[in-house]
Amino acid sequence: MTTNLVTCRCGAEFPDVDGPTHRYLDAVPACWAVFGELLALEFGNVAYWPAHRYTVDAYALQHPGVPSPQTISSAAVHLTSLYLIFERGFETADATRAMQAAAKQKGEWAWLEPPESFGEITAKDVVGAESPAEHLERSTAWARSTWEAWATHHGTVHEWAGRIFA
Ligand SMILES: [Zn+2]
Repeated sequence: MTTNLVTCRCGAEFPDVDGPTHRYLDAVPACWAVFGELLALEFGNVAYWPAHRYTVDAYALQHPGVPSPQTISSAAVHLTSLYLIFERGFETADATRAMQAAAKQKGEWAWLEPPESFGEITAKDVVGAESPAEHLERSTAWARSTWEAWATHHGTVHEWAGRIFA
């Protein structure tokens, strides 16, 4: 017996199964379930928590949805977070606080056409780490690869962040 495969927006292949998905991020049910496992791990064990910022930013940016106020704001805040971490050296907790401040400034953002590819690493590659350290390492690599996949918009994100954190 073969299970049909479906390619998720993130580029990874998953079994074509039914199940819940996100309201505006465009993930297939099996990919959304993998993200749920990652979140359960991070919320369920404090040792896994340091990866949470990376996990959430990378996942949202690999499933950007279609243009709407929510998706525009989602891409903007998650890109701002990764910009602050990877380009400005913010600690993840500081990036979270800065993002929350950024989220209040909506109205300045526009839809960014997502890249053709979201990078080589997806949620499927991150799930299944054998230790919190390995989970953090995988999540960090995932977030960095996703940030690099959005390279055509780095200038715009820099400009948006500059307006907020000038
Ligand atoms: Zn996916």
